[in-house]
Parts: sequence; C-alpha cells; structure tokens
Amino acid sequence: MNGTIEVRGLRKTFPGAGDKRLLVLDDLSLSIDGGEFVCVVGPSGCGKSTILHTLAGTVTEDAGDILIDGRDHLLARTGYVFQEPRLLNWRTAAENIAFAARAAGLDARETRSRVQRYLELVGLTEFANAYPLTLSGGMQQRVAIARALVIRPQVLLMDEPFSSLDELTARRMRTELLRLWNEERHTVVFVTHNALEAVYLADRIYVLSARPAKILREVVVDVGRPRDFEDPMVLKLQREVIATLTE
Ligand code: ADP
Ligand code: MG
Repeated sequence: MNGTIEVRGLRKTFPGAGDKRLLVLDDLSLSIDGGEFVCVVGPSGCGKSTILHTLAGTVTEDAGDILIDGRDHLLARTGYVFQEPRLLNWRTAAENIAFAARAAGLDARETRSRVQRYLELVGLTEFANAYPLTLSGGMQQRVAIARALVIRPQVLLMDEPFSSLDELTARRMRTELLRLWNEERHTVVFVTHNALEAVYLADRIYVLSARPAKILREVVVDVGRPRDFEDPMVLKLQREVIATLTE
C-alpha cells in the first residue's frame, strides 16, 4: 500500500446541450508512482476536477480502469482538499478532523491521538477548539488538509487548494505542504492552473489540453528542494509549461 495510481483509457461524458453529451475525458491514461507529487495543469474547464472526482470515486467514469495500489480505486482511501475549506462551521477545528476520522471507521481513542498529531502537523494545536469562521482562510485550509490526512489516505487529491488565498499565504502553504509530504510521503495529485506553483511543488507535471483533456506534455521537474522561485531552471520549466498551454 504505497499509493500507486494507474489510469487507463478513462472516458467521461456529462449531459450536454439538447441530446448531445459533453465529452470531458476521452481515453486518458496516467501512471503515478507511490509517494510521487504530481501536478495537473490545464486550462479552465478542461476536466481537471473531473479527473480528481473520478479518482476519488465521487464521479463515475463511462469507461476505463482506475487502479490504486493495483486494486479498484473504489476500495482505496483517498483524501480530498477543495479550493474552499468546506468545513462544518458549527464544529471546532478538532471536531472537523475527528468527524472525518470517525466516518472512516476509526475508534475514539485512535481518533483522539490522530487529531492531535494532525493538528500539530499543520501547526494548529493552539486552535483545536476554535470554530472555522474565527480562523483565517489559510488556517481553515490547514484544517481541511489535516482532515484529508487524518484517514492516512493512500492518495491525497488537491483541487487548486491555495488559489483563493493571497499570494503570501499561498507561498507559506506550499512550503508547509512540502514539509508534510516529506514527513508522510503520501502520493499527491495536485490540480492547479498556476504554472509556477506546479514547478515549485511537483516531481512531475501533466500539462493538459482544452476539453476533452489530452496530455500535451509531461514535464519532469528535476530540481532539488527547497526550490527557489528565482532559480533559472524553475523559471525555464515554468516558461515551458506556459508555452505548452498557449500553443
Ligand atoms: P476544470 O476543473 O478543468 O476547470 P471540470 O472538470 O470542472 O474542469 O469540468 C470540465 C467540463 O465538464 C466543464 O465544461 C464543466 O462544465 C463540465 N462539467 C463538470 N461537472 C459536470 C456535471 N456534473 N454536469 C455537467 N457538466 C459538468
Ligand atoms: Mg476545477
């Protein structure tokens, strides 16, 4: 169980105008190693969120195979972080995280110890009993990340999780996410429309075309971490990603 993902021939349509179907994914294949940090970049509306939803099993594919650790993905534990925190505002930070743990079948004792651990990992121990609306956007998103991680997912799916934060907060969150990933080494599939963010974070980037999403290019980011936004190699790869997107 180390979080490998194998997607073959994935096809997804949605109801479209009239009796037409909207073709979003057509014969898409991806192969992701356990512990790998992969970013998915593509134009708005191309099908990025649909890819994450099908991996998570919240959207059903029309055709194709999705295997996580060699088994049907519906049997896998996946953590999901959305663009907005989507917390339960009438529950404290700790209760939000505990709720996910209990829903995943953990007992009360294990839940208590994991809630503590993940609050600490995201730097919110002091805010355990705070309600979401009293926290900043960045802190709320940290609760959402802890909630996704508390079930020890085989795969962590992140859908533009920092794009509604201000740039300074987003930068801090990216550094923190890499620290968490370093510690736990879960497989991460991170969707973004920000080329620089992708090059800063990823081991490998899939650059997608407009709908239906095809893989235009795979970019391996062979740059040691921590990466510097001003590093010439980082800037060069960022330009390559943008060039591919605008071709
Ligand atoms: P992205 O995340 O890349 O912006 P999405 O995966 O959200 O794109 O959507 C891809 C396309 O599928 C869009 O045209 C969107 O309108 C359409 N779509 C997504 N979800 C649904 C749905 N549940 N029903 C109908 N159309 C949908
Ligand atoms: Mg989306």
